[in-house]
Amino acid sequence: MKVLIVGGGGREHALAWKCAQSPRVDAVLVAPGNAGTAREPKVRNVDVAADDVPALVALAQDQRIDLTIIGPEAPLVLGVVDAFEARGLRCFGPRRAPSRLEGSKAFTKEFLRRHGIPTAGYATFTRDTFDADFVRRQRTPIVVKASGLAAGKGVVIVDSADEAIACAQAMFAGQFGSAGDEVVIEEFLPGEEASFIVMADGVHVLPFATSQDHKRRDDGDAGPNTGGMGAYSPAPVVTPAMHERIMDEVIHPTIRGLAADGMPYTGFLYAGIMIAPDGTPNVLEFNCRFGDPETQPIMCRLRSDLTVLCEAALDGRLDEVQMDWDPRAALGVVMAAGGYPDSVRKGDTIEGLELAARLPGKVFHAGTATGPAGEVLTSGGRVLCAVGLGDTVGAAQREAYALVDTLRWRDAQFRHDIGHRAIAREAARERARG
Ligand code: AMP
Repeated sequence: MKVLIVGGGGREHALAWKCAQSPRVDAVLVAPGNAGTAREPKVRNVDVAADDVPALVALAQDQRIDLTIIGPEAPLVLGVVDAFEARGLRCFGPRRAPSRLEGSKAFTKEFLRRHGIPTAGYATFTRDTFDADFVRRQRTPIVVKASGLAAGKGVVIVDSADEAIACAQAMFAGQFGSAGDEVVIEEFLPGEEASFIVMADGVHVLPFATSQDHKRRDDGDAGPNTGGMGAYSPAPVVTPAMHERIMDEVIHPTIRGLAADGMPYTGFLYAGIMIAPDGTPNVLEFNCRFGDPETQPIMCRLRSDLTVLCEAALDGRLDEVQMDWDPRAALGVVMAAGGYPDSVRKGDTIEGLELAARLPGKVFHAGTATGPAGEVLTSGGRVLCAVGLGDTVGAAQREAYALVDTLRWRDAQFRHDIGHRAIAREAARERARG
């Protein structure tokens, strides 16, 4: 079979690499891909942008693609799955209507409230309905969110009502374009975050192995928020009891609620959860796609054939298949260009990829491009994600950083402590064992 992966980041490299390992798969096309996907056996890039829906449909038809998997949210929110379905093409992802779970925080909050799914208290405003007195009555800190897609930058946490009002007004004034036409003012939730990622077929759900990412740029979870500086799986914060609570209180009610609302959900569903001190799994956000960088360590642990799972989901048969996991932990360290998450320089040569390829683990590409002499150049904020495996998160971390140590380019930056919470939990468990 022929598979098309839509997107060009680290997540898409991991999805393409995983699909290419399937004995059922003859070829994987990636639109547009990166220098890493271009170098994978059985994989080739096609110069079509990930959000050019008509061109993606034409590509799938011309190339007789059997299965398309959508990586990023933008084409989903634009309705790429609906467009594929209209032409009888098999495309794994949610349709446009349920993709609003990611495309509109106002929609999501109202959905969660209506279905009794735990989440922070909130109110939604437009420029015309904005009520500064409501904001002044809130306890601090206050969370201010642009409702629409704002490339991960539309959430601000402030310590005073005046700052919250100023943030909301900047959003209404167009700081994030139309993403700020509606603004959600939300109660601040303390706790520890976890990512919970499942695949759904409209009715049934299969959870992926648990994972956790690091959103802040600098060591010790300091510095600005980013798309993600590293991730690992499994996440010890999601104990078996917490796993059950998240499935019962968040995932199943969400899939049931969407079906009841007339928009059944097929695709990857990513729930960002804040586990409250009392154990309540509050939903921070939904993403209607796989996480990046969570995909990279999770695909390294998945033993099952991803194409079989996606096809089962498209046929509504997820209850008939299972996921088989490598019991080892996997940990991915993102290497970013200098300046990330602000503007970054592009075009620097990356050294050490050949050496890294001979070490255990796997280096996934994100913002990379092939230069005129076949060299690999930086071409984006997040550049590489080095994944290690090991019997513990600590051992996986050592393998990942051995890869990082071989890779260099001008002003590369990365965190040195990915997995620190899990490793502290492992150490505490060791101590308790005596
Ligand atoms: P979101 O895009 O809604 O997940 O928000 C991005 C990040 O902001 C989350 O990963 C949290 O770290 C933080 N955040 C969002 N909402 C809240 C909240 N209500 N309380 C505390 N932190 C939050």
